[in-house]
Amino acid sequence: MAKFIFITGGVISSLGKGITSASIGKILESRGLKVTLMKFDPYINVDPGTMNPYQHGEVYVTEDGAETDLDLGHYERFTRAQMTRFNNVTTGQIYNTVISKERHGDYLGKTIQVIPHITDEIKERVKKVAKVSGAEIVIVEIGGTVGDIEGLPFLEAARQFRLDMGYENVVYIHVTLVPYVKVADEIKTKPTQHSVGTLREIGIQPDILICRTEKSLSEEIKEKISLFCNVQKEAVIEAPDVNSIYEIPLIFKNQILDEIILSHFKLICKLSNLDEWKKNVVEKVLNPKEKVKIAFVGKYITLQDAYKSVYEALIHAGIENNCRIEIKKVDSEEMERRGIEKSLSDVSGILVPGGFGYRGIEGKIKAIKYAREKKIPFLGLCLGMQCAVIEFARNVLGFREANSTEFKPRTKYPVISLLEEQKRIEDLGGTMRLGSYPCKIKKNSLAFQLYRRNLIYERHRHRYEFNNKYKNLFQNKGMVFSGIYPQRNLVEMVELKNHPFFIAVQFHPEFKSKPDKAHPLFKGFIKAALENSKIK
Ligand code: GLN
Repeated sequence: MAKFIFITGGVISSLGKGITSASIGKILESRGLKVTLMKFDPYINVDPGTMNPYQHGEVYVTEDGAETDLDLGHYERFTRAQMTRFNNVTTGQIYNTVISKERHGDYLGKTIQVIPHITDEIKERVKKVAKVSGAEIVIVEIGGTVGDIEGLPFLEAARQFRLDMGYENVVYIHVTLVPYVKVADEIKTKPTQHSVGTLREIGIQPDILICRTEKSLSEEIKEKISLFCNVQKEAVIEAPDVNSIYEIPLIFKNQILDEIILSHFKLICKLSNLDEWKKNVVEKVLNPKEKVKIAFVGKYITLQDAYKSVYEALIHAGIENNCRIEIKKVDSEEMERRGIEKSLSDVSGILVPGGFGYRGIEGKIKAIKYAREKKIPFLGLCLGMQCAVIEFARNVLGFREANSTEFKPRTKYPVISLLEEQKRIEDLGGTMRLGSYPCKIKKNSLAFQLYRRNLIYERHRHRYEFNNKYKNLFQNKGMVFSGIYPQRNLVEMVELKNHPFFIAVQFHPEFKSKPDKAHPLFKGFIKAALENSKIK
């Protein structure tokens, strides 16, 4: 039987519960255990797919095509666990299922209530993931902060879980803030006492506290937290601010958090260290030899989380190339006002990420023109590929009005358009081309040089596609279609001859990049940018 860890958050949001959960996954996995992770999101949306990036940040796409919370990205980057649509559970999904069952008559005339019907459904989801994944440890992160109304059913389900599964099979970890108050020059434990108090009112006594803090916690403070929160002193774990999120597993390991959890579970596992991780990831990310500046031309650049996986993939490529990536965030709308030269003349590579809607498009197209003409390494992702196609059509083929039908439905030159079956779809949620698709790579292409294989699998999240009607015209002028989804003959990758590095892809490679295994496209892009920076 699997063992279960529930992770809650207190005091404020944005304490890094996702990274904490992923790091705990990492240290337990290093002990030879098979680990999986889940995220509970108490909002009523079925999934974050229809949410605005300002509301939600990045939507992370799994292999099986689910649109999920970005924390699942951390789980996949830190561990070997493979996320599926069952690893992210929302209130919307739970109610959807319970209401369908009720309409179907499955509850045999009962009154349907939060307890037990909603909580049972939540628990079922956890048990199902445990079973399907075959994991020995299931880590469940509960989104939001203790005290939120909408989180209550999830916390109640977590409380019942120990009752159902037995004391030693469930661990509760609470992530809390221990603030330093400057005027008093003191570290304050009261907010933590209060949030643990709130948790206890619900019936959960945490076994372990992860204390986010900017100052180191003295033994005295730890004792105080231990006493007031009824948690063993060794289980009061310090989580200081760090330069790289990839340091967190080491910090936990130093405080023997893995051992504390394993002893609760009465598990004896092989010993481990994180030397490889330390050497290949942490030390490299903290001590880069060189530096390279990349322009990131997007629409949501003021938001830290909107392009989470892309930023991480760039960091991974930096690790692989021994360099620090300085990301110059360029607002595609503002760039037009400021002037392209001002925005792009000092960078060694240009990246255009994915996105939706017309706003900011013209700026992205101009940035791509600049990259193409000035021979600056370029990487386009999803919408970035669609913009590269539009740019080529307008400025090389001379189709001035070329566009995507997403932005101009009646454009004269629909070089990016909807497939027939997409035109018939009315619902917005979950109806894009989503998840993993195969892509065949052309020999003698840049794509082949980077991936070194004929067939790859990458994840998708888009509606519009390259319009094959124009393929020959593009090819005649030097665009190479180096990756194709064979079953449907859809264009997945485009690149340019006579350019040091110009490649754009219809999929999202960022979702499969790992800190100890950078994605080939990002790795190649940063390598080319580094070379370019030396020519300048
Ligand atoms: N808006 C484009 C489409 O739907 C691109 C989507 C994306 O970049 N993820 O096809």
